[in-house]
Amino acid sequence: MRGLVSVLIPAAIVIGAAAPDLAEVQGALPGGKKAAVRLQFKMGVSVSSKNLPKDFIAKKGDLPRWLSFEDLTSGGKRWALTALFPKDKWGKDEVRHVVRWPKLESVWLISALFCGHGQRYDLLMAANPKNPEFFSEGDIWHIPKALLSPEFGGAATSAPARSQPEDEFDDEARIEASRAMLEYKKDKQGSYAAYRMRKGEALYSGVVMRFTDLVDAKEVNQLAARIAKRSGIKDVRSIQPGQVIKIPLDCLADPFQPEGSKGLAEDRQVRAEVRRTAKVEAGPRLAGVRVVLDPGHGGVDSGARANGVWESDFVYDITMRVRRLLELNTDARVSTTLRYEGIGFGIRDSIPAMTKEAVLLTTPPIPNDGESSSTGSSVHLRWILANHFFATPKTADPRKTIFISFHADSLHPSTRGSMVYVPASNMVPSKFTWAEKGVQVSELKHGASVNFTARQKLEMEARSLIFAEGLLKELRREKLPIHANRPIRNVINRSGKTFVPAVIRTNNAMTKALIEVVNLQNEEDAALLKDANFREQYAKAVVRAIRGHFKNG
Ligand SMILES: [Zn+2]
Repeated sequence: MRGLVSVLIPAAIVIGAAAPDLAEVQGALPGGKKAAVRLQFKMGVSVSSKNLPKDFIAKKGDLPRWLSFEDLTSGGKRWALTALFPKDKWGKDEVRHVVRWPKLESVWLISALFCGHGQRYDLLMAANPKNPEFFSEGDIWHIPKALLSPEFGGAATSAPARSQPEDEFDDEARIEASRAMLEYKKDKQGSYAAYRMRKGEALYSGVVMRFTDLVDAKEVNQLAARIAKRSGIKDVRSIQPGQVIKIPLDCLADPFQPEGSKGLAEDRQVRAEVRRTAKVEAGPRLAGVRVVLDPGHGGVDSGARANGVWESDFVYDITMRVRRLLELNTDARVSTTLRYEGIGFGIRDSIPAMTKEAVLLTTPPIPNDGESSSTGSSVHLRWILANHFFATPKTADPRKTIFISFHADSLHPSTRGSMVYVPASNMVPSKFTWAEKGVQVSELKHGASVNFTARQKLEMEARSLIFAEGLLKELRREKLPIHANRPIRNVINRSGKTFVPAVIRTNNAMTKALIEVVNLQNEEDAALLKDANFREQYAKAVVRAIRGHFKNG
């Protein structure tokens, strides 16, 4: 059938039109013969070695049936690109690329093919400020000579520092890509970071949620209004692509602070620590690993509520599912900070009503009823209890300790997906003792006083960040929603204060995270949390992330 079609249509034809992950064309070769060129989702370009002239092939030795793009000479590459994208114009100063297969192409891929490496995608985005990040057929992408691979006569120099496929993007690469879109400038009103709005973006999410540490819906809106005014925008609904947004420097999160700033230096110190940090080897089936799970609310404290769901019972169920899976499949020692009387450590497929009775598992247990201890004390007792667990037995290796607190967020309804908080090392005190009159539990004796060296704080943030990254990878693999703008954060800014949530701030676990599973204000997210299949899927991803955190997990 294919032969027949190519007789009828001698130019390039698409056979993969029905298969969303593959496109194939027959490219005309110099001698009159043809060779197939394929574009595959996440696999890139390959060319049939049959009929291909020698001067198109860079690979030595036996030729496979399909040659990868990297196996071609610059002449071969140029030919393959022309066959795939016949509408592209190769001009003197730029290549004008016309998107042909929006489902197969991405900024990363175009950068890999034309600029020599996918990692240049942020520069390519900066060179096309008005284009949306997601492709539509016929979109024009300008690839200036400065970014074009030297193989095509371009000026792209120096190999990028890191090399990884697009979906393996880590937190650092994502942050770097966002940072590359900022320019630091000054006007009469002071210093600011300039950001050019892209098509389809809103100040709310594209700027405030991405570049600052604010998350509270009202505060994000207020700052968006302030930034609009600072940028001379009268009507936020009429912002055009390319519009310059002036973000005052004092609003920027640490990784977006200008060169030479303390915030940026501290952020880079953590990134360097992440690169230095090696996985720790656990015993078989995670033997020797100590996991403490904290269902974020409970008892009288329902947590956030919206769209017919509430935090406490639903995150309790996820916590119990994680607990069950760890107990079934590993030899890790697992403890929880809180138990629902009546339900115990069981899991539930349906959660019809709010459970009012929960106890903190201290000695003696304290009902989470708002009277035996306040909600504020309850948060502190959770990390104190965790510190007690980590110290038992005494021989436990601190690098094999993990603490996870489960929550669900209450953000602007337009945002959705998981966010993970890790403790910013510069916000963790070197010494801290918690004491409150009227609370008497034996764990206070050993768990309530902590000391951290600067070295420990840094290692804790790095290991926690690595765990958070591993968790996002697992969630992505399951196609579960992840917050679109900086899903991993190390501080929260609320009511003018920047802080690390107490439950992970003075917790002795070497790896710790507070997970906001979903955003309850978002209807789709709320519906997911209600679904027992989602809760099970989420728990499985968490367990895989815990296992993956260790060398032989
Ligand atoms: Zn919460």
